[in-house]
Amino acid sequence: MKVCKFGGSSLADAGQLNKVIDIVLSDPARRIVVVSAPGKRSSGDTKVTDLLIALAETAIKGENTDLAFGAVVERYASMADELKLGPDIVNLISNDLKDRLAQVKTLAPAEFMDLLKASGEDNNAKLVAVAFQARGKKARYASPKDTGMILEGEFGDATLDPISYEKLSKAFSSFDGIVIYPGFFGYTKEGKVATFPRGGSDITGSILAAAVCADVYENFTDVDSVYPCDPRIVPEVKNGEGIATMTYREMRELAYAGFGVFADEAVIPAVRARIPINIRNTNHPNEPGTMIQQSRRVVPGTVVGVASADDFCNIVVEKYLMNREIGFGCRLLQVLEDEGISYEHMPSGVDSQCIVVKGKVLPKEKEIKVVQAIKRALKPDFIAVERDITILMVVGEGMCYTPGMLAKACLALASAGISMSMVNQGSSEVSFMLAIRRQDRDVAVKALYKAFFG
Ligand code: ASP
Repeated sequence: MKVCKFGGSSLADAGQLNKVIDIVLSDPARRIVVVSAPGKRSSGDTKVTDLLIALAETAIKGENTDLAFGAVVERYASMADELKLGPDIVNLISNDLKDRLAQVKTLAPAEFMDLLKASGEDNNAKLVAVAFQARGKKARYASPKDTGMILEGEFGDATLDPISYEKLSKAFSSFDGIVIYPGFFGYTKEGKVATFPRGGSDITGSILAAAVCADVYENFTDVDSVYPCDPRIVPEVKNGEGIATMTYREMRELAYAGFGVFADEAVIPAVRARIPINIRNTNHPNEPGTMIQQSRRVVPGTVVGVASADDFCNIVVEKYLMNREIGFGCRLLQVLEDEGISYEHMPSGVDSQCIVVKGKVLPKEKEIKVVQAIKRALKPDFIAVERDITILMVVGEGMCYTPGMLAKACLALASAGISMSMVNQGSSEVSFMLAIRRQDRDVAVKALYKAFFG
């Protein structure tokens, strides 16, 4: 059985929805279809989720909601109209939204916001099910409440309660035909609607794939495959080959450094259950896409991708004979723990220790506190915080035991006149990290792309 998830761009209008139905019907194994809310139809358009956020904000402020309400319903109505689904489904959606809006006075703002946001996927799943039925196919909408998608944590940033797996697995074992399931939300134990973070339909798909032990989790989006580097920096990457297969580890490293196909946390359930993930294009369904799995055949000396991420900070601490001071590293990290800061990398020298953190976790006021605390705890000879650092990640299982991979990257950067401030490679050898200045990023990514793929 395959679980397929279709993102907002795949469901933005009637034409896209027809493509989705064709894709699902072309393979009888595609039995569970997770849908997002309708996305943008063109670059200037607004996603239904954003329309719903605006609607919720208007209602919370106590202002007139007619315009914002109409904008949401119109998105579904135009699809239903074009697909000739009849008035019932649009009335159902419109009444559902009215019922939700009426709860503005009884719910806390965060709860009300989630109730409205979730309606984007919920109503879309109902409409998609009706669209399948209109083509004479056996398809049904399934609700996260009835199937046991239990969430916990904060509204708008909820996580799965693991007891859900058993409930979901049981619920799905009793379904036949095609099941259309709304992504992005579930219910708290108290019965309140709660959403995952934005983009959370990927999480729903991944959870269902794990719950039903799917053969594959197909994630349909609008790219043919994952490219080996960011096409906004290296446009010609689109003319070359995309990544056919990569391992979970490679995906994690690339996603960490900004590969935007999906958030790496989103696929944790599928990864833990060892379900292969296939990224595919709704607009080119014959393309095989990128397969992400536990292991793959690796060509020694090759890399799978080059990623870059901006806005890192480096806390540099130097102290003569640091290496002999027992507990130095422990006390340094204790300062970060006390301030609730998680670190990303820790390259070191004999008498120097760098701690790389994300810029957003170290705003200026916190930086001052952290520096003072480190001075008190460790009495360093020197401490400084460098900002605006970009990290480059060169990723590939093929680097393992292959001499010269790092040398190749360093030579490419040196030839482009770029100096690196840090280098970090773990013993897994699946990636190495190079730190550079933000202003050198584009030239650096181009140089690395040319060196490894050019
Ligand atoms: N519709 C939600 C969003 O725009 C969730 C999703 O599409 O995955 O974030």
